[in-house]
Amino acid sequence: MSIRFMSLVALLLVLALVAGCEAAGSTAPSVPTASPVPTTVPPAATAVLATSEPAATATARVPTVVPPTVVGAAALGEAPAPGDAVIWYLGNCGYAVRTQSHFLVFDYQQRYDGPEAKPRPAQPSLEKGFVVPGQLADLRVRVFVSHQHTDHYDPSIFTWQQTVSDIAYFLGWQARETDDPAFHFLVGPRAAWQSSDMEVYTINSHHSDVPEVAYLVKVDGLVIYHNGDYQGDFRQDYPFLQEISAQIDLAFAPNDYDEQSPYYFPQNVDLFQRFAHRAIFPMHDSAERGHYADFARVYLARLPGLPIHYPQHIGERFLFQDGRIVVGGPAAATTWFKTYGGRQEDVG
Ligand SMILES: [Zn+2]
Repeated sequence: MSIRFMSLVALLLVLALVAGCEAAGSTAPSVPTASPVPTTVPPAATAVLATSEPAATATARVPTVVPPTVVGAAALGEAPAPGDAVIWYLGNCGYAVRTQSHFLVFDYQQRYDGPEAKPRPAQPSLEKGFVVPGQLADLRVRVFVSHQHTDHYDPSIFTWQQTVSDIAYFLGWQARETDDPAFHFLVGPRAAWQSSDMEVYTINSHHSDVPEVAYLVKVDGLVIYHNGDYQGDFRQDYPFLQEISAQIDLAFAPNDYDEQSPYYFPQNVDLFQRFAHRAIFPMHDSAERGHYADFARVYLARLPGLPIHYPQHIGERFLFQDGRIVVGGPAAATTWFKTYGGRQEDVG
C-alpha cells in the first residue's frame, strides 16, 4: 500500500514539475529581454565603404541605398552636406553633380560614351547614365553645355523643363533666341554669371568652327571645373580662373594621356599643377575601354599624389565627402595611386 501511495505521490510530483516547466516556458516570451545594442556598422554598410575607403574612416556617413521604384528626389537619397557632393558619370563628357541644394548636369547626351555607343537601358536611370527628369522634379537643376557638338549637347535636355519647375540652362554659345529667363547664354569671352547662391565663369575657345567654353562653377561650398572641349590660351585663362579660386574641388578634364600630344596634355598638366585639386575625373572617352586608367597612370607618374578618380562603367557613382572621394572608382584606387602610381593590373 505505502509503496503504491509513494509511487502515486512521485508520479504527481513529476507531473507537477513538467506542468511547471511548460508554464514557465509559455510565459517566457512575455518577459522583456534587453536587446543587444549594435556596436558595429552593419556588414552591408561596411561593404559600401570598403570599395574605396580604408577602415580608419569607417565612421563616414553611409549613402542611403534606395530601391529604384522610389520616384522623385527621394530616389537619390539624402542631400549631401555643404561642401560634399554625389557625382555620376553619364558617358563621354557627361557628369551629374548633386550638391547640398543643387543638381548640376554637364554636357549630357544620350548617344556616346567616347567612340562607343551609349547603351540605352530598358529602364533609364542615373545609375545607368541617363537623366530621368522625374527623379529631379523637386530639385534645383542647373544644366551646363560647353558647345553644340553632338557628343556634348543633346536637345533632349530642354524637355526636362516640362517636369522640373526650378531649372536653368547655361550654354556656351547663343543656342537660341528666347526671352525665357531659364536660359543663360555665356558667350563671353570670359563670361560671368552670378546669383545669390551660385557663380558661373567661362573661358573660351573654338574648334571645328564652333564656339565653346570651359566652366568654373562655385556652388554650395564647392568649386567645379568642367573643361568641355576647351582648348584655348590656357596660359592666360588659367591664371584668370586662379584669381577666382585657387582650389578646385571637382575637376573634369579630357582624357588625353599622350605625353607627346600638343593638345590637352600640356593643358591638363598646367591645370593640375596650377590649382589645388581635391578630386580629378577624366572624360571624353569610354569607361568600358579602360583608357581612363591610363589617364590616371600617366598623370600620376608625372604628378604623384594627384587625387584622380575614374569611372569604370556608365552611371558609376562617386561620393565626395569632407574634401575627398570616399566611394566610387576602382577599389582602394586612392591609396594605391598615391603610394605607387603604377598600372592597375600591378596591384591585382
Ligand atoms: Zn568633344
